[in-house]
Amino acid sequence: GKPKVVVVGGGAGGATAARYIAKDSNGEIDVTLIEPTRMYYTCFFSNLYIGGFRELSSIGHSYGKLASEYGINVVHDWAIGVDRDAKTVSLAGGAKVPYDRLILSPGIDFVDGAVPGWDLSTQTKMPHAYKAGTQSELLKDQIMAMPEGGTYVMVAPPNPYRCPPGPYERVSMVAHVLKETNPTAKILIADPKDKFSKQALFEEGWQKHYGGMIERLGPDFGGGNVSVNADTMEVNIDGEIVKADVCNVIPAQKAGAICDAAALTEGNWAPVDGHNMQSRMDENIYILGDSSNQGDMPKSGYSANSQAKVAAMAVRGSLTGSRVFPAKYSNTCWSLIATDDGVKVGASYEPTDEKIASVSSFVSQTGEDADMRKRTYEESIGWYAGITSDMFG
Ligand code: FAD
Repeated sequence: GKPKVVVVGGGAGGATAARYIAKDSNGEIDVTLIEPTRMYYTCFFSNLYIGGFRELSSIGHSYGKLASEYGINVVHDWAIGVDRDAKTVSLAGGAKVPYDRLILSPGIDFVDGAVPGWDLSTQTKMPHAYKAGTQSELLKDQIMAMPEGGTYVMVAPPNPYRCPPGPYERVSMVAHVLKETNPTAKILIADPKDKFSKQALFEEGWQKHYGGMIERLGPDFGGGNVSVNADTMEVNIDGEIVKADVCNVIPAQKAGAICDAAALTEGNWAPVDGHNMQSRMDENIYILGDSSNQGDMPKSGYSANSQAKVAAMAVRGSLTGSRVFPAKYSNTCWSLIATDDGVKVGASYEPTDEKIASVSSFVSQTGEDADMRKRTYEESIGWYAGITSDMFG
């Protein structure tokens, strides 16, 4: 029969890879996509939903076209194990799905015990909203229900984590809604990192738009020594107890659990060859996006999509002999600070034998004029439309 590709995870990496392999192989490859949810909510633009710039429904995408237009066999189930010798993936529903090449793009899971007092059973009281959908909705509802002059606490994650500017765009969007609905409210960030992505740009924007509302405690001020109590809504920051009305805990992260189950991780992440995203531990398996340890690329949707195209070409080449060109990657991370105040950071990348290495980069500048910032925001809207149609057709 035809060669079989199985893709686990229908997000930025997996949906793109499945679609490119199906689209470019003229029916020569049988593609199965395994994804538990029927509606994928993008984390990208989920902060804009919290800020009131997008409806939740506008960031939800279904898998209908991947099945009907591209002939992908979409299976809504969890992958729970991989037998690398037999080359099968086992599903929670009991099936075993055979593959010739396996692509894993399961995103992130949280490191157990990273924030003492927090675990998945407390995520409804202290949401992470770092996987989008019901978590985003919950966080937004909690923000809207804050008492007048209340306190929103964010427990920020240590590096590396998905979307380096994500927590700080989140803070900007929370400040944007609170400024309108609850202007005496306060935002406190407990941060284990010395510095963070686009810091000068965010700090300038917070000063300009939300003066006095946002305070960040870095590691020097105990930001790295944090525990929480979800019953009392207390946050202990280096011995100082803060009573939170909303507590957004974004814990330390690791590769999606299926990577561990398949014994493809080293530490928290799954090492890959930057020339093609092939696992360093199994030549029949490719690992994309947040789960991979590839080098210099940030964990972003843009990166995962870029990596998926490289892997799709390599997988087709290995199965059908189609031509494989040298890998090139790119990334841009846009963030919205306030209405029409968009900023970005990005780079292009090429593989070496050790890693995917940054070859040139750019970043928005402080003090840019309003027109430039508006154009940057508009560019991000175009990017969103482009990447989601690249993923879902
Ligand atoms: P995901 O897109 O998370 O996809 C993983 C999929 O795998 C999920 O659908 C999940 O259900 C499925 N899955 C997991 N385990 C299994 C299993 N065992 N079996 C079957 N399926 C499984 N990136 C940008 O580029 N630009 C942005 O502006 C941006 N903003 C962000 C804002 C926030 C608040 C956050 C949290 C992230 C943001 N990101 C952004 C980052 C981006 O969302 C991720 O980096 C990207 O989604 C990673 O793609 P992925 O394929 O690795 O994982």
